[in-house]
Amino acid sequence: MTKFIYLIGYPLKHSISPEFQQAALDYYGLDVRYQLREVEEGLLASVVEDLRMPQSLGANVTVPYKERVLSLLDRTDDLARVVGAVNTIVNDGGSLVGYNTDVVGFVTALKDADFEPRDRRAVILGAGGAARAVGFALVREKVAWLAVVNRTKARADRLVSDLANYARAKGLATQVLALAWAESELRVAVKSCELIVNCTTLGMRHTAQEGESPLTEDMLGEGVLVYDLVYNPRETALLKVAKRAGAKTLSGLPMLVHQGAAAFKLWTQKEPPLSVMFRAAENALTKMGG
Ligand code: NAP
Repeated sequence: MTKFIYLIGYPLKHSISPEFQQAALDYYGLDVRYQLREVEEGLLASVVEDLRMPQSLGANVTVPYKERVLSLLDRTDDLARVVGAVNTIVNDGGSLVGYNTDVVGFVTALKDADFEPRDRRAVILGAGGAARAVGFALVREKVAWLAVVNRTKARADRLVSDLANYARAKGLATQVLALAWAESELRVAVKSCELIVNCTTLGMRHTAQEGESPLTEDMLGEGVLVYDLVYNPRETALLKVAKRAGAKTLSGLPMLVHQGAAAFKLWTQKEPPLSVMFRAAENALTKMGG
């Protein structure tokens, strides 16, 4: 019987996960298809319920459902529960288990880019599912200071309160604070930090926000690393702005492949063929003109 893995989200036109996940499945000759399921809000529960069928191995979950999907699952592993966001679901014999592989994907890509987060100052733009993974990753990596800036301030407050509780429980000294999405606040936070991570959807191809950057050139100091989780296009408006300002840049593509590789291992129990996945992801982006 052919098995299936789905990508659940909305919108999904920008996604290249099918290309690099299918390449990894084909590398092992597995009879498994990785398919997009663009799901409108009201249908999320029934689409997740369908993942219990024997032909389903599970799913990836993306914008905007990473937090909402938690309550629809039977259980989550410790990390996904702490983070409060799930990007990978495994169908364990009809029981749905949630994981968060964004945390490991984010940190692996950051360290591959030679950035050691310990004792550094960081700013996260956004407070959705991806920002939650990045926030917990940075606190676990022992950053000294972390600001979360979000358009909906209450959401940033919630994330910061969860991060502060986690840091306290683990005896970590990270200072965390929430800031409103106002130019004056953004300017101060961004000027004094060493790492900026864009976890908003601003700049995503095939959306109304394509071509938009959350920051302007004059806000950025030289030497800061600007890490944009948006990976399509490869060079977002934010990364262009950062390069012009003399900042270092990191695209979301390596994180995408590393989070996908960790998910692949959860579904198949096989070692992810990383170079095959990277090649397929690069080719898919090029084909899309990214
Ligand atoms: P999400 O849960 O829907 O959160 C979206 C975030 O974007 C929220 O903080 C939202 O603010 C903010 N936002 C949306 N429109 C905005 C605007 N016009 N101005 C300012 N802020 C705005 O999405 P997500 O799952 O966290 O994903 C966020 C991005 O990260 C997506 O582009 C996704 O593709 C990318 N991502 C990449 C990877 C990777 O591996 N590279 C992994 C995960 C996610 P409000 O709270 O005010 O709505």
